[in-house]
Amino acid sequence: MIYDVMIIGAGVVGGAVARELSRYDLSVLALEKESDVCCGISKSNTGIIHTPCLVKGPSKKAEYNLKGNLMMDRLCSELGVVLQRPGALVLAYSEEERETLQAYKEQGIRSRKTYGAPDEEYRIIERDELLSLEPNISSAVICALLTPDAGRIIPYELGTALWENAIANGADLLLKSPVQAIVRPEDDGSPWTVRAGEKTYRARFVINAAGHGSEEIGRQAGFTPSVIEKVKGQYLIYRRERDFDVNHILFQVPSKGQGKAGKGILVCKTVYGNLMIGPDARWVGDSDDRGTDKESLEEVLEGARKSIPDISSKGVIKTFAGIRPKPVDGDFIIEASDRFIHLSGIESPGLTSSPALAEEVLALLRKEGLDLVPKHSFREKREPIVREILDLDKEELKRRIELPDHEEEQIVCRCEQVPRKRILDAISRGIRVDSLDGVKRRTRAGQGQCQGNFCGGRVRKLLARELGVPEEEITQRGGQPLGDRISRL
Ligand SMILES: Cc1cc2nc3c(=O)[nH]c(=O)nc-3n(C[C@H](O)[C@H](O)[C@H](O)COP(=O)(O)OP(=O)(O)OC[C@H]3O[C@@H](n4cnc5c(N)ncnc54)[C@H](O)[C@@H]3O)c2cc1C
Repeated sequence: MIYDVMIIGAGVVGGAVARELSRYDLSVLALEKESDVCCGISKSNTGIIHTPCLVKGPSKKAEYNLKGNLMMDRLCSELGVVLQRPGALVLAYSEEERETLQAYKEQGIRSRKTYGAPDEEYRIIERDELLSLEPNISSAVICALLTPDAGRIIPYELGTALWENAIANGADLLLKSPVQAIVRPEDDGSPWTVRAGEKTYRARFVINAAGHGSEEIGRQAGFTPSVIEKVKGQYLIYRRERDFDVNHILFQVPSKGQGKAGKGILVCKTVYGNLMIGPDARWVGDSDDRGTDKESLEEVLEGARKSIPDISSKGVIKTFAGIRPKPVDGDFIIEASDRFIHLSGIESPGLTSSPALAEEVLALLRKEGLDLVPKHSFREKREPIVREILDLDKEELKRRIELPDHEEEQIVCRCEQVPRKRILDAISRGIRVDSLDGVKRRTRAGQGQCQGNFCGGRVRKLLARELGVPEEEITQRGGQPLGDRISRL
């Protein structure tokens, strides 16, 4: 079969493109090397929907970040993904940094004008007002820029939802299918040929959304390679209960030279109320180098304490790292030639930008000659995975944990109070989920205080039963090697 469009890479960018394509009367195939969607950059990042104030323009990043930010509320509502907009505060510690805040504010206003977005109220607030918003802020902070347009999501929840919806609308996704070779077509309009594992696939149009794998794939397709550095960032996640609160997403004006590496160490809560701090920035040689280390975690802690001095290592339940694909030229790489769209260097704010990037990819496909005929059967809505947040008292929790296995109300994960029915719902949505991590990302089973010690075996048993395979076949990461090393402070 010759597909109309093939997508290489099932991260959030590939997912946004797949969903857009599934609006049209096209055959779409996606190839992903991992055993699940969103196992690459889209799994391990901060999950912030960025304000245009912090994205330097004019640039592709500034344009797609702003457009993506504006599209995000509708997209998340259609897909049943939780998006919160607590707003961000960029903290300044000196009069010189106050001037940087002014520059950020002007950047946000300028970007909105340039890309035709409605105005937003960006304000530099003084310490008194700041204290009323964030009572636990460091005494060294003199003022802050308040940007109401910053938000947060769980990045892999958006990615998974995009893929589920694309599949429900007819797209095909093949997991565990690493693309190894690409054969350019002749000039006669014949299809591209792509080899993944033992198999060969053909498509008239190809989109390279392979994250860290993009450069190699682009090179094979005939694109001039770019220099993409790998910058690792580490994070600490805390249990929900703590003695102090954080209401906004807290950034700091980066110290000199630090701005090049990223947006600096931030402090915020996740959508589920866990405190999260990070990331630092270290250049590494390998995109699989996702372990955490004590030195970086200490640096993150020290950086976070500059914003909220009460933060310590008490209450940490998890550490993780993500790797940014940082193009030395600074901007996203988006190129099109011979019915092939090449995306590379999609670092931060790639998550925020993803819906706008998808629109751009479709525009490029159209220019390359793809007919986009709307499909009347397209369904934009995806029901959220059963999400009721339970707050059971000890006795009821114990009773529900002990319910027999066929009872959907049985609690599988004690810490996050995840009922069996949520897991059953999550694994029956068109993507084969065959790992503990796959269940964890979709349902939160294993995301609590004990990090899966209690529920790991129970989830394994449930998955094995539902998939009809022996329990030994259910692994933490779906047969992938255990690459991440986790250090605790
Ligand atoms: C530390 C960090 C913090 C960040 N914070 C933010 C933030 O707060 N806000 C924001 O907007 N953005 C943020 N980003 C950026 C954002 O996470 C990325 O831009 C986005 O997730 C990129 O998605 P992607 O789909 O391009 O890549 P990926 O998610 O990596 O997807 C690419 C997929 O391609 C697959 N693949 C690779 N090679 C092959 C192959 N040969 N064959 C088949 N499949 C292949 C991979 O397995 C992967 O699943 C952050 C990034 C990092 C690293």
